[in-house]
Amino acid sequence: MKLAVVTGSAGFIGTNLVKLLLEKEYYVIGIDNFYSSEQWKSELFKENDNYEFIMHDIVKPYIDIVENSRLFKLHGKVDEIYNLACPASPPRYIDLSLETIRINTDGVFNALELAKKHNAKILHTSTSEVYGDPLVHPQVESYRGNVNTVGPRSCYDEGKRISETICYEYKRLFNTKIKLVRIFNTYGPYMDPNDGRVITNFINQALKGENLTIYEEGKQTRSFQYIDDLLEAFLKLMATEDDFYGPINLGNPDEFTIKELAEIVLELIESKSQIDYIKMDANNPYKSSHDPQQRRPDISLAKEKLNWEPKIKLRDGLVKTIEYYKSL
Ligand code: UDP
Repeated sequence: MKLAVVTGSAGFIGTNLVKLLLEKEYYVIGIDNFYSSEQWKSELFKENDNYEFIMHDIVKPYIDIVENSRLFKLHGKVDEIYNLACPASPPRYIDLSLETIRINTDGVFNALELAKKHNAKILHTSTSEVYGDPLVHPQVESYRGNVNTVGPRSCYDEGKRISETICYEYKRLFNTKIKLVRIFNTYGPYMDPNDGRVITNFINQALKGENLTIYEEGKQTRSFQYIDDLLEAFLKLMATEDDFYGPINLGNPDEFTIKELAEIVLELIESKSQIDYIKMDANNPYKSSHDPQQRRPDISLAKEKLNWEPKIKLRDGLVKTIEYYKSL
């Protein structure tokens, strides 16, 4: 049996990952402080003896806290760390901009210190936002990005960029076993309906019969990956040799305009909602000058190294996600 520490365990990806790891008979220690997650998700697994939840702000050190936990005392070591903690929705990280920077600096140091002390593997979650508003399409890992250091998305984009560098330095200096993933837009059950992102907004607007809010003209593109595909890649990556650390793109290369997405959601929900086109203020992260205009991963590296590619088509994933929101 292995013991995994999951930071951001009550978030969208965290909740799905904890569920999967418990199914795979891991011991799981979840850490969260509900800055950008929902408390009820930390209670979903509380009947499972292989799960332990610790409420903690990962910006503050937590080696002692983990070592004093029930599961650590039982198992005696940390095998894997999944460092997920971070607001990931533009409205959320702008509200928590300084926290977002600290999470991606001090928070990453703390996770790496835990990994270093226990010789654990650490999967750190970076993002497609490291490419900014990309001038290369689709985005390949060797592309260095087009990122604004002083704009409403900078706290997240630059935060994630330095987080990759911090991990790389631990690898270089201490041979810490890092795995860096750049996650492209991901969706599925357990997304907070109020997180402000496009799929949650559109589905919940359509279910309530409200108009769908397309920002600007809706010509901007994204590629949407269903959560189960992402998690399969996480586990495959954790099983790779220690000398492979990425960064590696994880996303679904099927690209859609936001307008196309709105039309698919309306069709699947059989909703009579209309579409509102909303002009954004100059400092809004969704103003077209700040909002990446196109995004699609090149996943050749993941295919080669992980023998992985997404299996779940957008319509199929949306149907499952719509079912989830209906059940709430
Ligand atoms: N978007 C939109 N309406 C919404 C929310 C988002 O048109 O209600 C657009 C937004 O302008 C962006 C895309 O959808 O181009 C994805 O936004 P999201 O916040 O989901 O993710 P990110 O911008 O981080 O990719």
